[in-house]
Amino acid sequence: MIGEVQADCLFCRIVAGEIPSTKVRETEHTLAFRDINPQMPTHVLVVPKAHYPNAAALAEADPALAGTVLAEAGRVAGDEKVADSGYRLIFNTGSGAGQTVFHAHVHVLGGGNGELHERLV
Ligand code: 5GP
Ligand code: ZN
Repeated sequence: MIGEVQADCLFCRIVAGEIPSTKVRETEHTLAFRDINPQMPTHVLVVPKAHYPNAAALAEADPALAGTVLAEAGRVAGDEKVADSGYRLIFNTGSGAGQTVFHAHVHVLGGGNGELHERLV
């Protein structure tokens, strides 16, 4: 059910600690951890701990939590020292756009030589 932990969801299981991850930030309602297959030197995923299938569903159901996820993405960029050089926030939505995990998450991508790739994730 939306907003609740789903036993068959990869990111719900990461949030629950059932699957290990490299955490970089955690708040009461969000978790940030490194992507297992980084596409840039900094590649961190920020998720709400509650389950929503994508970013728009999250924003519809809980706009404050969606804002918190975005603020956390900015804090990750600061912690990772890419806030000044610049970074991208990407929300893939739908399998046709490359979404593979249907638990809302934002990719925080930055670092390296700053070259922007047409397709990052
Ligand atoms: P999407 O394609 O849905 O936008 O992003 C899903 C992301 O999750 C991918 O970038 C993928 O590398 C990452 N990912 C998949 N499985 C795992 C995992 O078990 N641990 C971590 N840390 N990241 C994962
Ligand atoms: Zn989930």
